[in-house]
Amino acid sequence: MSDSASSGVTVHETLPLRVLAGLGARHEIPRETERLGAERVLLVSTRSARGPADELAAALGPGLAARFDGPVVHTPVEVTREALAVAERAGADCVVAIGGGSAIGLAKALSGRTGLPQVAVPTTYAGSEVTPNLGETENGVKTTRRDPALAPGTVVYDPQLTLTMPKGLTLTSALNALAHSVEALWARDATAASDGLASESVDGILTTLPAVLADPADIAARERLQSAAWLAGLCLAQTRMGLHHQLAHVLGGAFDLPHAELHALLLPHVMGFNLPAVPRTAERLARIAGGDPVAAVSRLARGHEGPTTFAELGVPRDGLREAAERVAANPYPNPRAADADAITDLLRQAW
Ligand code: NAD
Repeated sequence: MSDSASSGVTVHETLPLRVLAGLGARHEIPRETERLGAERVLLVSTRSARGPADELAAALGPGLAARFDGPVVHTPVEVTREALAVAERAGADCVVAIGGGSAIGLAKALSGRTGLPQVAVPTTYAGSEVTPNLGETENGVKTTRRDPALAPGTVVYDPQLTLTMPKGLTLTSALNALAHSVEALWARDATAASDGLASESVDGILTTLPAVLADPADIAARERLQSAAWLAGLCLAQTRMGLHHQLAHVLGGAFDLPHAELHALLLPHVMGFNLPAVPRTAERLARIAGGDPVAAVSRLARGHEGPTTFAELGVPRDGLREAAERVAANPYPNPRAADADAITDLLRQAW
């Protein structure tokens, strides 16, 4: 992440990261673990990634020490303890995670406790694989930490692994990625580098997502979308997120909401709230979107066949005020000041 020094000088810092991207990149994973000196791989995957996980297990042969297929969203520590016991029994010397942010979060939690090197193989657009952030839950409370040691050293992007995403997850996960880039554009600690990543990523998502939704099997479009999501993840790693991510964090925890759907439904509302306060970002987004960016993102978000409002997600309307107060009491850096009344209004619109 970059920190703006008080003098107005911007600081840009990146994590060491090796990325392999492209169709068939997953076949390189055994060579990557070998490169790390690993001889006993723990393979973490979600059930949705069983196919590629089985394929990798076969390719690793005797290099596979154990498998764990129980990652859960928001990285509950009791699941991490179970996986840790598996890793210890197996004498694992490396973790490979295949799946969405939940599988990658578990690998980060394991690596944070053991120092094991990680290879992350994302199957969604959530972006966690390139960040040093980890959110963990214990007794229903989610805490987030940021430590460069948590970031996977190697990331493998194979668009083939995104083909199985249903349309709804494709849409909401891509909007989750878009939220990283949009918030990076208005971040107080944005740099020329993060602006470049964010602009390219917004452009990639807005131009490619409709093509992927029209034909989810279009592998070339899937590859472009995955690349845009990679850049969005880097935005998340390099800048401090604002109101959008804070709302997603608080509401997701308070009402146990699905991560990507929550991001997708919130984004147009937060853009509508913040953009009047950041005219240069609004102009930039309008240029990229070729028109009103809020309308463009709303159109995409409303196209979701699943829940597109808090009411449809089962959030009680009378719970919004308390959530808004919690957000206002501990504000993230945001270009527009947001008190509890303003946040309540925004949440009611989204309801
Ligand atoms: P997820 O990993 O929870 O997956 C959602 C669902 O989609 C699961 O049922 C999963 O099995 C399925 N799935 C995943 N990939 C699939 C595919 N290719 N085909 C079919 N089904 C597939 O969802 P997510 O949105 O990727 O990740 C959310 C989690 O990641 C949350 O815990 C969130 O906090 C975390 N996250 C962390 C960061 C970070 O920087 N720390 C960033 C983004 C998300």
